[in-house]
Amino acid sequence: MTTPGNPESPDPSEEVVDTPRRSAPPGTEVPLSAPVKVLFEGRYRKLVRDLPQTIFYCPQCKGKGCEKCEGFGKLTRDSVQELIARVAMPRFKARRNKFHGAGREDLDVRMLGSGRPFVFEMLKARRPTISLQEVEDEINRRWEGRIEVRGLKICNRDRVVEIKETRCPKDYRAQIVFDQELSADDRADVAKRLDAVMAQGPLTLLQQTPQRVAHRRTDMARERWVRLLEHEPTADGWSVSIRSEHGTYIKEAISSDGERTQPSLSSLLDRACRCVELDVLGILPADVGPEVDLPAGGEA
Ligand SMILES: [Zn+2]
Repeated sequence: MTTPGNPESPDPSEEVVDTPRRSAPPGTEVPLSAPVKVLFEGRYRKLVRDLPQTIFYCPQCKGKGCEKCEGFGKLTRDSVQELIARVAMPRFKARRNKFHGAGREDLDVRMLGSGRPFVFEMLKARRPTISLQEVEDEINRRWEGRIEVRGLKICNRDRVVEIKETRCPKDYRAQIVFDQELSADDRADVAKRLDAVMAQGPLTLLQQTPQRVAHRRTDMARERWVRLLEHEPTADGWSVSIRSEHGTYIKEAISSDGERTQPSLSSLLDRACRCVELDVLGILPADVGPEVDLPAGGEA
């Protein structure tokens, strides 16, 4: 389940130029000669599987428009960044924005639980005193079922570095399917092996940079701890909840990525399996280690 070209983790923040629209509520305007930078922070939840975090420029033309993107310049219509921008920018009468996330999930991965921290930076805002509660309410009303934001508040520039550099463990839920159909005996064996993995507590994986991102990341091996928290059979496979150290590639921790991750769930179960759906259930506090017992998705 790879999505070519979709960025996954700390990439330079993207910038989008947006034209202010009419229909913004009244507020104090600063003179055109003195527009100010406004930053607000919050957390976002992403409830759908077809939305990138930031504007998804066409890799071929880098946004100029070409045949591959049908002149559109990007490969998805929307992103979390653009949905927030469409509400916030006209209100603040801002001309450009940057989106800074505390890491990012693949575009086909939902971001659930209490959401992912972000900072939304508006450059050249002409109406800097807009109510963020109204912005939050309107984002949640207009994009209901797609994204939700919470806790919006004005912040300063230091928060960008803080949220980008904090290394948080995460909880995931993955839907897994097996390459071979499982007999009743196979399913009993899988359940037994998963129980054993869970009982073992944290384990250390050695992950070589995944093939799907190797074109833009240094090819190197990293050690990461992971922990199986829960598992449950489903109609066509298994559902597993996994806690992992910052920077773990979960899809590869399941499939093994052609033995580039060792051990993997495939190797531990002695059966090839892969992740078909992934949700982030929680971005945990940075000090949560492999031995800490928290319920799945729980905040300390
Ligand atoms: Zn293009």
